[in-house]
Amino acid sequence: MKSRNIIVIGGGASGIAAAISAAREGANVIVIEHKDRIGKKILSTGNGRCNLTNENMDARYFRGDDTTIVTEVLNEFGYSQTKQFFEQLGVILKNRQGYIYPISDQASTILDVLRMELDRLKVKVCLEQHVVSAKKNTKGFQIITDKGRYQCDALILATGGKASSVLGSDGSGYVLAKQFGHQISPVVPALVQLKGKGNYFKQVAGVRTHAKVSLYENETFISEDTGELQLTNYGISGIPVFQISRYAAKGLYEKKKINVVIDFIPSMTEDELYTYVNERVKTHGEKKTEDFFVGMFHKKLISMFLKEANIPFSTPVHMIPHEDLKRMLCLCKHFTVVIEGTNDFEQAQVCAGGVRTTEINPKTMESLHESGLYIAGELLDIDGICGGYNLQWAWSTGFIAGENAAKGSNL
Ligand SMILES: Cc1cc2nc3c(=O)[nH]c(=O)nc-3n(C[C@H](O)[C@H](O)[C@H](O)COP(=O)(O)OP(=O)(O)OC[C@H]3O[C@@H](n4cnc5c(N)ncnc54)[C@H](O)[C@@H]3O)c2cc1C
Repeated sequence: MKSRNIIVIGGGASGIAAAISAAREGANVIVIEHKDRIGKKILSTGNGRCNLTNENMDARYFRGDDTTIVTEVLNEFGYSQTKQFFEQLGVILKNRQGYIYPISDQASTILDVLRMELDRLKVKVCLEQHVVSAKKNTKGFQIITDKGRYQCDALILATGGKASSVLGSDGSGYVLAKQFGHQISPVVPALVQLKGKGNYFKQVAGVRTHAKVSLYENETFISEDTGELQLTNYGISGIPVFQISRYAAKGLYEKKKINVVIDFIPSMTEDELYTYVNERVKTHGEKKTEDFFVGMFHKKLISMFLKEANIPFSTPVHMIPHEDLKRMLCLCKHFTVVIEGTNDFEQAQVCAGGVRTTEINPKTMESLHESGLYIAGELLDIDGICGGYNLQWAWSTGFIAGENAAKGSNL
C-alpha cells in the first residue's frame, strides 16, 4: 500500500508528537515551522527543566467549554504511554511530588531526543516558512506558505494558540482552522498574572507568602487554590494565582465582576486566629501594633493590614479596641482584591479557548467538518492547570492525530 503524505503545521510539542507517530505508522511526513528551529516553547517549559507530564493525570485537571473529549484522549494516550514514549527515547524521568521532569533537569534533553527520533524516522522539517492558508482540493490538501506550495493526503494543524508568541504561536492557527469551518471559543490568556485595583500593591511588591486565593465571579465562588502567592506592583502572581487565572480571564471577557479573596493565614480558621491573637495579647500586648504581628506575617503585609484597617502603627496592642483588632484579622483572612485585568498573552503560559472540541472526533482528533484534517494541542479549546498538564495535552492529542492521519481513518 502506498504510504500517505502528511503535513504537520507547527513544530511544537503536539506537532512533533504527531510527526513521530505518523512516521512510525509508515507515513511520509513534513513538518512546516515558521521559526528558525522547532520546539522553541519546549525549551522554556518548567523554568527550562520541562515538566512534561504529571503522575496525577485526570480529566478534572483540564478546562474548556466542553471537556468530555479529555477522558477519551487520556485513555488513548495518557500518563503511562507518555512515560513509556520518553523512556523508549532514552530519557530517565524524575518524579518531583508527581511532577515529571527529565533527570537532567534540562528541557533541551526532551527536544534533543524528539529531534533525534524525527531524524531517525526521516521526517522532513521545513523551517522559517509561515503557513498562510490551507484548503481541501481533489487530491487532498493544498498548503500555501510564504515560500511555496505543498500537497498532502492528510493535514495536521498543530500551531498552538497565541500565548508567548515570541516562541512561535502567533494565533495564525485559529485563522487556518476557521478556513475549514471550525468555530473558535473566545481565546483569553491563562496561567497568567492578575492585575488588581488598589494603591497598596507598590508597598507590598516582592512579598512571597503561603496563602489561599479564592476567585468570585459576580460574588459567586468559582475556584480556589493554595500555595506560594507573589505580590507584585500591579497585582498578584504565583502558582495559585495561575491556577485560577483562566476563570478571571474568561469572566472579565464576559464583562463580569471578578474578585479574588486572599487568606493570608490558611493554616488557621478565623476562630483559631482570633483565639490565638487574644492569647498573644496577654503576653505581647504591650508591643506596638507594627511589632506585635512580627512572627505572624511578612513585615510589608503587617503595614498593609494596619493601613487598610485604619489602625495606628505605634499604639500598644492592648489599647486597640477589640472591634478594630477583629476588623484587621478579618482582613488577613478575607483580603479582597478587585481584578481589573490579566497580563497579556505574551506573559501567559497558555490560552483558554480555541477550536471547539465538539467539532473533533475524540478517538482520532479528526475534524468533524473536514475528513483528513486533524487538530492537536493548545489550538483546541482545552487548557490544563500548571503541573505538566498542558504538555500532556500536546503529546496526547499530537500522538493520536499523527497515528490516525497515517492510518487514514475517515469520517
Ligand atoms: C514559559 C512557558 C512555560 C511552560 N511550562 C510548561 C510546563 O512546564 N509544563 C507544561 O505542561 N506546559 C508548560 N507550558 C505550556 C506548554 O508549553 C504548551 O501548552 C505546549 O507547548 C503547547 O504545544 P503546542 O504544540 O500545541 O503549541 P506550541 O508549542 O505553541 O507550538 C506551535 C508551533 O507552531 C508554530 N506555528 C504557529 N503558527 C504557524 C504557522 N502559521 N506556520 C508555521 N508554523 C507555525 C509555532 O512556531 C510553534 O513552533 C509552558 C508554556 C510557556 C509559555
